[in-house]
Amino acid sequence: MIATIALAGNPNSGKTTLFNELTGARQHVGNYPGVTVEKKQGVYAHKDDRLNIVDLPGTYSLTAYSLEEVVARDFMIHEKPAVVIDIVDASNLERNLYLTLQFLEMGVPVCIALNMIDVAKNRGITVNADKLSRLLNVPVIPTVARSGQGKQLLMGTAAEISRKNHTQTPLKISYGEDIDRALADMEVIIDENHFLTETYNARWIALKYMENDEQIRAGGQKQNAPVAQRLERIVARVSDHLQDTLDTYPEAIMADHRYGYINALVKQGIITQKFDRHRLHISDRIDTVLTNRFLGPLIMLAVVMGLYHFTFTYSEAPVGWLEGFFGWLGVTVDTLLPDGLLKSLIISGVIDGVGGVLGFVPLIMFMFFGIAILEDSGYLARVAFMLDRVFRIFGLHGSSVMAFIVSGGIAGGCAVPGVMATRTLKSPRERLATLLTVPFMNCGAKLPVFALLVAAFFSHNEALVMFLITIGAWAGALLVAKLLRVTVIKGAATPFVMELPPYRFPTFKGLFIHTWERTWQYIKKAGTVILGISIIIWAMMTFPGLPDGQRQAFDIERQALLVSAPPDVTAEIQSVESRQDLSEKAIALKAQLLNIDALEAETTLKHSLAGRIGTTLETVSRWAGFDWRTNIALVGGFAAKEVVVSTLGTAYSLGDVDPEDTGSLSETLVATPGWRPLVALSLILFVMFYAPCFVSVVCIAREAGSWKWGAFAMVFNTLLAFTLAAGVYQVGSLLGY
Ligand code: GDP
Ligand code: MG
Repeated sequence: MIATIALAGNPNSGKTTLFNELTGARQHVGNYPGVTVEKKQGVYAHKDDRLNIVDLPGTYSLTAYSLEEVVARDFMIHEKPAVVIDIVDASNLERNLYLTLQFLEMGVPVCIALNMIDVAKNRGITVNADKLSRLLNVPVIPTVARSGQGKQLLMGTAAEISRKNHTQTPLKISYGEDIDRALADMEVIIDENHFLTETYNARWIALKYMENDEQIRAGGQKQNAPVAQRLERIVARVSDHLQDTLDTYPEAIMADHRYGYINALVKQGIITQKFDRHRLHISDRIDTVLTNRFLGPLIMLAVVMGLYHFTFTYSEAPVGWLEGFFGWLGVTVDTLLPDGLLKSLIISGVIDGVGGVLGFVPLIMFMFFGIAILEDSGYLARVAFMLDRVFRIFGLHGSSVMAFIVSGGIAGGCAVPGVMATRTLKSPRERLATLLTVPFMNCGAKLPVFALLVAAFFSHNEALVMFLITIGAWAGALLVAKLLRVTVIKGAATPFVMELPPYRFPTFKGLFIHTWERTWQYIKKAGTVILGISIIIWAMMTFPGLPDGQRQAFDIERQALLVSAPPDVTAEIQSVESRQDLSEKAIALKAQLLNIDALEAETTLKHSLAGRIGTTLETVSRWAGFDWRTNIALVGGFAAKEVVVSTLGTAYSLGDVDPEDTGSLSETLVATPGWRPLVALSLILFVMFYAPCFVSVVCIAREAGSWKWGAFAMVFNTLLAFTLAAGVYQVGSLLGY
C-alpha cells in the first residue's frame, strides 16, 4: 500500500524532529506550489507499506489568517492525505488541542501523537492517553520524538487507518444557541445547493462563513453568488445580534466555545498535575492585581520607571570608571606614540570610536539584567497582555507586542530579531505594520546616543527623560502603525488568543545567562562591526588631508605669534609642563596657540571626505539644528546606530587638541558652542525615528517579501524623523530655548 500521511501541529510541537526520526536521509525539500512555504517530504517504510510523509507548516489554527494556515488547509483539501498525524505537545495540552479540534471539525482522519511526554512528566503532568482517545474518538499514541519512543506504534496505527480507508465523522461542537441555529440553517442551504461540497463538508463551510473566512467566501461567490449571498445574510444577522446583545462577534464566541470544549474535556481527568495547581492558583491571585484594568497599567508604568531608575543609578559609577579608563588610555597612547597618522588612527579611530560604545557596557548590562527579571518572572507576558487592548486600537495585534519589546520596547533590544519575531503574527497586514514600526523602538544601539545626550543636557532628570523617550518611541510607532493601517495597508483586524504563563521565581543562573548573552552580543559587535565602521569613518574624516599651502599658513601664524611674544614667555611655554606653573602671560599665549590649533583641526576635518558630506547636508540639516559634525555621525549611523556615538566621539576628538582636556564626550558637547538642550532634543527625536540601520532594512525587505518595503522604511522614516526634529527645533527656537 502507498499512502500519504501529513504531519501537522503547533509550531515547536516536535513535527520536524519526528519527521527526521521517521524519514532519516530519505527526504526531499521543496516549496508548496506558488508560495514560499517550505514543503518537506519523505518516505517511511512500515512492513510492506510505503508511507509518504509530508511535514506541514506549524500552525495554531486552520483559519485563513496566515499563509501557513492556508497551506496546511489546502493540503488537507486538495491532497486528501489518508491520515493526519496531529502532533500535540503534552506539556501544553489545552493550547495544542485547539488545532486538533479544527481537524476533527473538518472531518479528516486524525491520529494524535501525544508528544513530549518526557517534558510533561518533568513538570509533574501526566496525560491519560486512553481516556483522551475515547473522548475524542481518535487514536492517541504517546511519543517522545527526540528519542523515537512510540514511533513504531504511531506509524502502525497510521498505516492501519489508511488501509481501512477510514472516514471520520466531523466533530460537532455547540457554539451557543444563536450561532448553532444559524449554522443549522446554513447547512441545509449548503446541502440543497451542493455549494462547495465537492471539497468540504457542509458544516465546515458553514463554520468558515461564520468565521468570515475570506478564502472560502471568495470561492463561494465564484461558484454560486446567490447562495453565497444568502449565507452571508445569515451571518450578518447573527453578527449584528451578537453585537447588540453581547457586544462581541462570532469568531470570539466560537473561540470561547472551542476552549470551553477543551477545558471541559481536560477537566474529566485527562490531566493529572502534581504540583502546578498551587502555583497556577497563586499566579491567578497575583494577576488580579497586576493585570487589573486600572491598577495594571499604573503598575506597569511604575515598573518601567523603576527599571530606568535602577539602571541609571547603579550604572553611573561603573560607566564613570570605564570613561576614565578610556580617557587614560587615550592620554597614555598620546604620550607614547609619535604624532602622525598611526596615532590619530589609534586614538581617534579605535579608542574613541570603540571606547564610546564599550563605555556603555555597564549601563546596558544593568538594563538587560532588569529586563531579564521581568522576562523570567513572567511579568513581560503580562505587559504584552495588557498592551494588547491598546494595540488593537492602532490596527496591530497582541502578538505585535513581543516584536516591539524584542526590538527595544522597554529599552535595549534590536530591530533585527524584532523583525523576525513578527513571524508569529497571523495576519499579513498586521505583520507588515508591525515590522515597519519596530525599528522605532529604542534598540541597544540608540540607547548610548540617548544616554550620552541625556547625561550631557538633561542630567538632573535622567530616568524621567529616558522614560519619556520610551513613551515617545511607542507613541510614534503606534501612530505610524495606525497611519499605515488606514492608508497603504488597509484591512480588518484579526481575532487572537493570548496566554499567560504562571509566574515563577527567576533563578540567578537564568538571569545571569540572559544578561550575559545579550551584553556579550553588544560587546562583540563593538569589537567587530563597530570597530570596522569606526576605522572607515576615521579614514573618511582624515583624508584627503589639508593641502600643504593651507597647513603652512597655520604654521606661519603660529610662528608669528611666538616671534612677536617676549622671548622669556616663549621659552616658558616650551619648557614648563604643567599649566598651573605658567605665568599669566604665558597662559594667554598658549590659549592663542591652541585657538589656531583648533581652527586648523576643524578646517582639516571640514576638508575631509566626511566633512564635505556633512557640510553639504548642512544646508538642509540646519533646519533641525544639526551641524556638519552631527551629520557625519548620522550618516555613519545608517551603517549601525552605535556609530552615532563613536563618530561624534571621533569628530569632536579630531577637533579637540587640548591634551589636558580629558573630559568625556558629554562634557565636550556641553562646552561646544551651538549645542544646547534644544539641539539635543531635536537630535534625540531624529535618531529615534530615522532610517533603520542597514541590517534592519535588509531584514525588513526580506521578511516583507519586497525591496519596496525596505526602501519605504528608509525614505518614510527619515522624512518623518526630519519633519519632527525640524518642527521641534524651529518651534523651540521661536520660543527662545
Ligand atoms: P516543530 O516546530 O514542530 O517542527 O518542532 P521541532 O521538531 O523543531 O521541535 C522543537 C523542539 O522540541 C526541538 O528542540 C526538539 O528537539 C524538541 N523536541 C521535539 N520532540 C520532543 C520530545 O518528545 N521530547 C523533548 N524533550 N523534546 C522534544
Ligand atoms: Mg519544524
